[in-house]
Amino acid sequence: VLSCRALRKVYAGHVVLDRLDLEVAEHEVVALIGASGSGKSTLLRCVNLLEELDDGTVHLDGEHITAPGTDPDLVRRRIGIVFQSYNLFPHLRVLDNITLAPVRVHRRPRAEAEEQARELLARVGLADRADTYPDRLSGGQQQRVAIVRALVNSPRLLLLDEVTSALDPELVGEVLTMIRDLKTAGMTMVLATHEMGFAREVADRVCFLDAGRVLEEGPPRQVLGEPTQPRTRQFLRRII
Ligand code: ATP
Ligand code: MG
Repeated sequence: VLSCRALRKVYAGHVVLDRLDLEVAEHEVVALIGASGSGKSTLLRCVNLLEELDDGTVHLDGEHITAPGTDPDLVRRRIGIVFQSYNLFPHLRVLDNITLAPVRVHRRPRAEAEEQARELLARVGLADRADTYPDRLSGGQQQRVAIVRALVNSPRLLLLDEVTSALDPELVGEVLTMIRDLKTAGMTMVLATHEMGFAREVADRVCFLDAGRVLEEGPPRQVLGEPTQPRTRQFLRRII
């Protein structure tokens, strides 16, 4: 589904992505782990064309999406992204938060987008919240709405950047359950996370990012349990 080759991103002389390669297969769930500043968020933002690369290419289903002249809105319709801070619009009802981009940006008929939004909300137990404003919802509910918003265009790929980090501990579970259900439904996902337990459980593959490249990758049991690279071991020792 996704193929990133030799991605390079430099901020003010500081190399953040250093010829990074990443392949993600259909239905695969890949967890990105690594120290703060290792480039996880930058990688996700580059894939979604929220940042411009200094070098390298990204292909989605074989199509070169970082080619000049690519319409970023069309790409973002096929790649959903969710951030740590849910970024819901406070002045819009839940339903309108979800349908804003499909209707305004992607010119989909409102009725169709709303029907799909209600269906997705029902699937995550939020059917009765469609007309509510975000500040009436718990953090966990808001994050689930943000994930629904990322799903409403039926994307090929979902990018999740620390989606549970801002939540109170008792609200983390409901969001993790939703991600688990998405995996069961076959959604291809790349998620940056500091929660090693969750990475171990949900990921098919864990990639350890260090200084802008994938230093070590493999099944969670191997990378988290028996890492071969000293830097991976050091990182895991520090966070556990
Ligand atoms: P964390 O675990 O803290 O979320 P991360 O792995 O997601 O970290 P990034 O957010 O990708 O790391 O940041 C990588 C590096 O790029 C950091 O050194 C950061 O300071 C720098 N950086 C990120 N965004 C920008 C920006 N817009 N302008 C300048 N520097 C940036
Ligand atoms: Mg980050």
